[in-house]
Amino acid sequence: MSRSKYMVGNWKMNQSVKEIKEFFDQVEIGSSGNFWLAPQSIHIGLCLQGGQAKGIQVGAQNCSDKVEGAYTGELSPTALLDFGCKFTLVGHSERRSINKERNSLLRSKTLVALAAGLKVIFCVGETLEEREMGMTEAVIRYQLEAGLLGLPESDKKNLIIAYEPVWAIGTGKTASAEQAEKAHSFIRTHLGENMGYDGEQLIILYGGSVKPSNVEELLSCPNIDGGLVGGASLKPADYSSLCRAAAKQS
Ligand code: PEP
Repeated sequence: MSRSKYMVGNWKMNQSVKEIKEFFDQVEIGSSGNFWLAPQSIHIGLCLQGGQAKGIQVGAQNCSDKVEGAYTGELSPTALLDFGCKFTLVGHSERRSINKERNSLLRSKTLVALAAGLKVIFCVGETLEEREMGMTEAVIRYQLEAGLLGLPESDKKNLIIAYEPVWAIGTGKTASAEQAEKAHSFIRTHLGENMGYDGEQLIILYGGSVKPSNVEELLSCPNIDGGLVGGASLKPADYSSLCRAAAKQS
C-alpha cells in the first residue's frame, strides 16, 4: 500500500512576528497535503492564521505530561488542541539532551497528548558515538520500547515516528538515503512485529539536514514517509519546495 508523504517544519526558537508574516506571504505550495509547522508556542496563534490560507497545519514542539493545573510555564496538550493545534513533537533530541528528558517522561507526555486528541511525532535517533559502536538499532529499539510502552490500542493510529540521527541534526550532514532507509525499515518492522502497530500504516519521518537538494532521494525510499525539517523550513522558498516534493511523491 502507499502512504501519503508528510513535510513537517520545526522552527525551534526562531522567527520574529515580521519574519512569520513574510513567511506566510511568500510560501507557495500549490497543492494540498500533509504540510505541518511547529513554531515557538508564542507564535502558534499567528501561524494558525497564516497557515489556514496556505493549507498548513500547526502544532507544538513540546507539551506537558499534565492536562492542567499548577504547572507554571508548562503547555497543556488539551489547551493546544482547543486552540487549533493538530500535533506535538515529543522527545526531540534537543529536549532529550538539553532538557534531560528521560524516556519515562516522554512516555507520559505521549500518553497524555494522544489522550487529549493530538497526533504525536515521537522522535528517536542515535548519537554519532552510538552509530560508530554499532548500536544504532539497539538505541532506537530502547527508545521505542521505553517511550511507547502500553499505549492504548485506539491511540496507536495517531502516533508518528521521526527518525532523527542526532549527528545529522543542524549539522549539514544528512544520513545517506541508504542509512535512513535501513533505520526506517527497522522501526517499521519492530513496531509492527513486536509492539502491536499496523506497520503498513505507520508514518515514519526522517529528520537531519533535509533540504531541497536531498529531499527527493530521501522521499523516494519505500519506508520514508516524509521529513521533519529544522533549518530549511525557516525559508519560505525551501519549505515550499520541500512540500511540493512531498506532494509529488504522495
Ligand atoms: C530538526 O530540528 O528536527 C532537524 C532535523 O533540524 P535540521 O533540519 O536543521 O537538521
